[in-house]
Amino acid sequence: MITFDILTIFPDLLASPFNEGILRRARQDGHIDIHTTNIRDFALDKHSMTDDRPFGGGEGMVMKPEPLAAAVEQVRNHRGAGKVILMSPQGTMFTQELAEKLAEEEHLILVCGRYEGVDERFRATYVDEEISIGDYILTGGELAAMVVIDAVTRLVPGVLGCSDSADKDTFSRNLLKHPQYTRPRVWNEMEVPDELLSGNHEVIEKMRFLESVRRTLARRPDLLKLETFSDSEKKLLRRHGLYAAVKSLQADSNSTV
Ligand code: SAM
Repeated sequence: MITFDILTIFPDLLASPFNEGILRRARQDGHIDIHTTNIRDFALDKHSMTDDRPFGGGEGMVMKPEPLAAAVEQVRNHRGAGKVILMSPQGTMFTQELAEKLAEEEHLILVCGRYEGVDERFRATYVDEEISIGDYILTGGELAAMVVIDAVTRLVPGVLGCSDSADKDTFSRNLLKHPQYTRPRVWNEMEVPDELLSGNHEVIEKMRFLESVRRTLARRPDLLKLETFSDSEKKLLRRHGLYAAVKSLQADSNSTV
């Protein structure tokens, strides 16, 4: 069970994604708990100002430290310490590996910036980790927080219907997932590969593994690591002429270090 606290000045933005599909079921089944706190409720003046002009001049507004700090303190008083994560384009890049690490936490407090970002002193005092969801600038941290919550939630034990389906996802073992097919058997003059219709589990698993490796070689060779393959997988790669290609990537990456 993970508790997510989201601190935002736009709480309405966050309602619907958590009321649909797997996230909704995860909440109902008690695997996750989500709370949203409006930072504006902690503003000190009568206009509920949460931002102000930057010292030194320049463009835009900066989120004031006091309302942010008071919002974190209230969340901590109600639900315990938690790990404070600031959504920020300057943070650590969010990856499946980081999602797996965060899925081991009990309480995440996600702070959504707006405008030009948050006052540096709030960051220095309260923030345990900064996370970016990619090298681009969003208008605010809310969508980034949703991305993190979505990716982390599906890794919480019991959330996905089939217990091992997260293990076979793209990125879970340095591979992209194999291509997938459903009914009809022939569509647009394209047939489902024979192996998948064979009913032979071993044949299907081998074919899927090889397709995963081929797809990863073609699209994301940077992910492949020879040491993640078992001896029998290496043998299979050799037999299908893929071993040399994977090995040469390894040699390339070693020579660039
Ligand atoms: N002026 C800031 C800069 O240049 O670094 C960007 C501020 S951005 C317009 C406003 C807020 O959106 C940020 O404080 C952050 O919370 C959020 N944000 C923007 N891009 C993000 C990203 N790639 N990942 C995570 N959060 C992001």
